[in-house]
Amino acid sequence: MAKHVFQTEVNELLHLIIHSLYSHKEIFLRELVSNASDAMDKLKYLTLTEDEFKNISFDPKIDITFNDAEDARSITIKDSGIGMNEEDLIEHLGTIARSGTKNFLGNLTGDAKKDSNLIGQFGVGFYSCFMVADQVEVITRKAGEEQAYRWVSDGKSGFELETATKAEPGTEVTLFLNDEGKEFANRWSISEILKKYSNHIAFPIYLEYEESTFDGEGDDKKEIKELKSEQVNDATAFWKRPKSELKKKDYQEFYKTFSNDYQDPALHIHTQAEGTLDYTTLFFVPEKAPNDLFYADYKPGVKLYVKRVFITDDEKELLPTYLRFVKGIIDSEDLPLNVSREILQQNRILDNIRKASVKKILKSFQSLAKKDKDYLKFYEQFGRPIKEGYYQDKDNRELLEKLVRFKSTKADGYTTLEDYVSRMQEDQKGIYYITGDNEATLRRSPLIEMYQKKDIEVLIADDEIDEIIIPGAAKYGDHDFKSVNRSNAGDELKKDGEADDDTEALEKEVKPFIKKLKKVLGDKVKDVKVSSRLTDSPSVLVADAEDPTFQMQEMMRAMGQMDMPDAKPILEVNLDHAILKKMKDMRKSKDFDNAAELLYEQALLLEGMKLENPAEFVKRLNDVLTKSL
Ligand code: ADP
Repeated sequence: MAKHVFQTEVNELLHLIIHSLYSHKEIFLRELVSNASDAMDKLKYLTLTEDEFKNISFDPKIDITFNDAEDARSITIKDSGIGMNEEDLIEHLGTIARSGTKNFLGNLTGDAKKDSNLIGQFGVGFYSCFMVADQVEVITRKAGEEQAYRWVSDGKSGFELETATKAEPGTEVTLFLNDEGKEFANRWSISEILKKYSNHIAFPIYLEYEESTFDGEGDDKKEIKELKSEQVNDATAFWKRPKSELKKKDYQEFYKTFSNDYQDPALHIHTQAEGTLDYTTLFFVPEKAPNDLFYADYKPGVKLYVKRVFITDDEKELLPTYLRFVKGIIDSEDLPLNVSREILQQNRILDNIRKASVKKILKSFQSLAKKDKDYLKFYEQFGRPIKEGYYQDKDNRELLEKLVRFKSTKADGYTTLEDYVSRMQEDQKGIYYITGDNEATLRRSPLIEMYQKKDIEVLIADDEIDEIIIPGAAKYGDHDFKSVNRSNAGDELKKDGEADDDTEALEKEVKPFIKKLKKVLGDKVKDVKVSSRLTDSPSVLVADAEDPTFQMQEMMRAMGQMDMPDAKPILEVNLDHAILKKMKDMRKSKDFDNAAELLYEQALLLEGMKLENPAEFVKRLNDVLTKSL
């Protein structure tokens, strides 16, 4: 018998499950039944598509038995599914393959570890059985192979693996119940849990139990035990039931069995289409964003069925990537069963279903948007992917531009683009926005002083992807998006004729002054310019018209693009400010250099950026303080 140790993450997951889910212990059964059902989906698919499997006798069902003897309580879940060979066992019941789950575990700290809602966001899976068992035995034989295996573990450090015999392909999982799990070894608990969680599993689940009858009278009375079996679940494809029969509660229940989510879904969208294309789709939007939403190896939430036969749950093209938080099923009557991945990706039928589905989903988001409060809740979870869609999905641009929201200088919470436009001034040249990563910093930024003064609304784009999606969108209706972070922004705010000559004359006069500032700051800045937009602040840093902004540069670096050219900012100075006025007259003094550096450093701080040399900054500041106090 070979001993194997668990991958470290498995131990962590085990620990986490046992400590955070103890009040939901019963879900172990849902997890095991769902694994059994997946295994039968897989084999069913093979029997329909692969010649070597077409002739095997396949009777898809789950049999559950239990032993209620006081000192030997156990539950066995047996399926006639695909089974596992040695390699599968080591890989699937000894590691956690998905990096989303791994990262999730790594990020959990303190109280979060106790929050079962958090852990409910990803499938806890097979390992949940160790909440109720101190030993678990898996006997399994892979369909198409002769050798069976026995896997045993106490869920502590590892598992043991040896060969075994098993007459039929499939898997049999036996839980030897611990004190926590004893209560489940009876007919009523098991069937109640199955009805609650697994009613819509598409295969029959049979529960075997003993029924006692009595024969004779008095001392001759004899107990006769008889083995019986009952089907516990409905075993129908839920999504095929007529919509008119289904209540919200039914959808909620189905969602939970289907997704392993604890919470009710925020939304369900059920479509039964007949006509040129026959298909059923049932989509759900979870209440909370799945934790792997931003990982490249996220698990797609949509399962594909053909005529109720499960085909795949690992196809990322069923919906566009930005809708990866949507869970559900697509069941087509028109696709061939043995549809291959290559065919799927360019299949016209599926393409039409996908297009119609996306429209339908976006429209239901739009209905949700009629209720501000509900939509806000949704947007807080899924605003990011919605924005991705706004950027990527040109076909649905019109729908998506109604769904994006931004913070703004003139709105509490979020505003729509439509509302922004309705508040625009008559001669306003575009939709202004400021980007950066901190809302409070942006709201106080010197860059928007002039806009504020002129009562022009500016969108506060504090989400890092705004930096990409807003320029990408370029326009809303006839209105261009205009970044106020750029060096040329603000020029157009000047009234025609106004200030222009003035500034020119001024610039001539102050040229040597600006030159000196530039010299002091050296290669810290690309240029120093007289600002046309500052009113209260002495200085501000902006990106050159074609350069990426600071935040963009930081983001690209964070995403691993290290060879980004270091685009230097432009320092804009406000010549009307008292500091600058004073500086003009002291160009020769040493204090000028200090002041120049401070103008640059304070602008950097206002941008929410780090100082290159905080010690120097403090020294300079103290010099100034000493002199002025
Ligand atoms: P998940 O089901 O979310 O992938 P689990 O931890 O529940 O995670 O299961 C891990 C893997 O073990 C499954 O993906 C499957 O490959 C395999 N497995 C579990 N139970 C069975 C079963 N009854 N029959 C066949 N394979 C199984």
